[in-house]
Amino acid sequence: MQKTIKKIKRELADLYSDTELQSITRLLISKITDYNFTEILVNKNTIFSDEQEQNVDNYLEKLKNHMPIQYVLGETEFCGLHFSVDESVLIPRPETEELVEWIVKEASPNSNILDIGTGSGCIAISIKHFLPNSEVFACDISEESLHTATKNAKQNNTDIHFFQADILKYSKSDVLYDVIVSNPPYIPVYEKDMLDFKVKNYEPSSALYVPDDDPLLFYKKIAEFAELYLVSGGKIFFEIYSEYAKDCVELLKNMSFQQIILKQDISGKDRMLCGIKK
Ligand code: GLN
Repeated sequence: MQKTIKKIKRELADLYSDTELQSITRLLISKITDYNFTEILVNKNTIFSDEQEQNVDNYLEKLKNHMPIQYVLGETEFCGLHFSVDESVLIPRPETEELVEWIVKEASPNSNILDIGTGSGCIAISIKHFLPNSEVFACDISEESLHTATKNAKQNNTDIHFFQADILKYSKSDVLYDVIVSNPPYIPVYEKDMLDFKVKNYEPSSALYVPDDDPLLFYKKIAEFAELYLVSGGKIFFEIYSEYAKDCVELLKNMSFQQIILKQDISGKDRMLCGIKK
């Protein structure tokens, strides 16, 4: 195993920082051996089979092509749970964990909750895990991502009501919600060049970008939907792009929402907000 570890570090040295390399190496070895991090240390003299070596080479090839480690392994962790991810869904981000934590604190335990644009299902599934008496609904425009989300719900023993919907056109609901949450696409297309190669080339465009001339497009539509289908006193939660934080607050203020709270993520950026339906 030591030889393989050296090989991984050597081959990826130009692509990743030392800390990234350390964690990628551990993740790869753990995937291949099924050992947790402590077991890796204890078993560092294990000899890999040809098949295991072959797997390492396959993973290395993908990583050298800048594929994000989460897609290479087909999995990631979010809120302490395991999620399968593929290129049909956005890789769940740590900022979004902070949003989930906030919702779990604020929502009453047996709420009706809707996650719009669920992607991998990370928000909906984590909420259901932490608030098992809630009824959680989740939609996405993409059938493919709903497939991944459904798999993730099963994997985490959570029962979620998934449905396909394009929120830009969807305006009917038989259910009234206590909480509506969304982490919609929010990066203006003109910022694309500034994004990391890995994000730009592997993550689904439909989950990332909004038109330059209408960056609040999804927030507007979702807030309009929430005006109709949130109960009075119900809460809307958004993950937001820090550059448009103030605009999102204004948007909600000018609609039927009050007591709007803007929160920063761990790196101090305006990242999420909550408003209460009048
Ligand atoms: N809800 C998913 C997440 O938070 C997907 C978001 C998206 O694709 N814009 O990761």
